[in-house]
Amino acid sequence: MEYSFVSLLREALRGHTGWRPAWRDAAPKPAYDAVIVGGGGHGLATAYYLAKEHGLTHIAVLEKSFIGSGNAGRNTTIIRSNYLLPGNERFYEKSMQLWEGLEQDLNYNAMVSQRGVLNLYHSDSQRDQYARRGNGMRLHGVDAELLDQAGVRKLYPWLDFANARFPIKGGLLQRRGGTARHDAVVWGYARAADRLGVDIIQNCEVTGIRIEGGAVQGVETTRGYIATNKAGLAVAGNTSRVAALAGLRLPIESHVLQAFVSEGIKPMVDGVITYGAGHFYISQSDKGGLVFGGDIDGYNSYAQRGSMPVVEDVLESGMALMPRLGRLRVLRQWGGIMDMSMDGSPIIDRTPVDGLYLNAGWCYGGFKATPASGWCFAHTIARDAPHFINSELRLDRFATGALLDERGAGATPNLH
Ligand SMILES: Cc1cc2nc3c(=O)[nH]c(=O)nc-3n(C[C@H](O)[C@H](O)[C@H](O)COP(=O)(O)OP(=O)(O)OC[C@H]3O[C@@H](n4cnc5c(N)ncnc54)[C@H](O)[C@@H]3O)c2cc1C
Repeated sequence: MEYSFVSLLREALRGHTGWRPAWRDAAPKPAYDAVIVGGGGHGLATAYYLAKEHGLTHIAVLEKSFIGSGNAGRNTTIIRSNYLLPGNERFYEKSMQLWEGLEQDLNYNAMVSQRGVLNLYHSDSQRDQYARRGNGMRLHGVDAELLDQAGVRKLYPWLDFANARFPIKGGLLQRRGGTARHDAVVWGYARAADRLGVDIIQNCEVTGIRIEGGAVQGVETTRGYIATNKAGLAVAGNTSRVAALAGLRLPIESHVLQAFVSEGIKPMVDGVITYGAGHFYISQSDKGGLVFGGDIDGYNSYAQRGSMPVVEDVLESGMALMPRLGRLRVLRQWGGIMDMSMDGSPIIDRTPVDGLYLNAGWCYGGFKATPASGWCFAHTIARDAPHFINSELRLDRFATGALLDERGAGATPNLH
């Protein structure tokens, strides 16, 4: 059913009895043209674009739990395309452009809100870095504005400009950045993919990958064997475990990242703000809760919960930036598993196994990548070759040395 003002009115008049489930609860078939492992945003977006752009409709998305139960439903919902390196910038800008038309495309309200993302700087050298990044963005046709302290004050007069441990000197603003409702993105892609014939199969864990003669033959699952010659892995924090089923060892480490939501308050933070002297980012949800986070916990784990020292560290950074945060109560806090790559940039590529494709290495930033990730991964799977947009997000860059090290932090996944 098309969602529109007319359908809403019709259903209101007949007591909302006509709504159908947004997607079918599909049972696995014995074989598919392509199987996507992982029903997060990336897996569902991949299936959608495979069907929409490449005409492959005999596809299944296999999800071990319920769709959106991983990082897709656990993130702090920030979207932006403020990258420096060309290999990243063209990819994240493609994503931003897809976000801009996503709700019309999916016929679903994903609550995409371009409320602006402001990265604060606190020293002259940091200003120079941000100026360089902003110039790089503008050379790619992407919006960027370098604000001085007065410019930031105009937007957020209540920030602690002088008394913060590191005084705020200005910020790099991308007005087209903002937030989107993470669950709605998952549901929107699921519904749109389902309408194109994609089977979304929940409670179906992939436990083995059958390979013969160096090529994928199918996947073993908790709901039986499924034959396919094309399998795409989009399992985020579980990448190392699932890739190991095909005998692959990847340049990925799994780390915990926590998120926090305060009690609801009246509108206060009408954009996204990031603190440049620590790692802290904050926005306000439409329900009123302040949504914020910081660094990863810094040790390898598959547990979707965090540790107390990072809670203290995140709140300390928050208090340095906006002391009024101390008057609020934190209502909810949780963790997700990040697939941290060795250079902080993602991988969307083929693998040494024919018919096995990899989508991984999303670090802190895979939510904003969701549309372009699905779009590029679908292209890579359908054509058996990357698109120009993901041509630098290669797996072999870790062997050739052509890294995409946005932060210049070296092969230290906990620092990206
Ligand atoms: C606390 C937190 C805050 C974040 N904040 C942001 C942010 O503000 N902006 C941003 O851009 N990014 C952010 N991220 C990162 C972003 O959420 C992820 O990079 C992105 O969601 C990963 O892609 P996904 O949605 O497909 O992953 P997921 O939703 O994790 O999907 C992977 C799916 O694979 C399934 N799976 C795993 N193993 C198997 C198997 N064997 N068989 C079948 N299914 C399997 C899992 O159950 C899971 O549902 C954040 C992440 C966290 C945890």
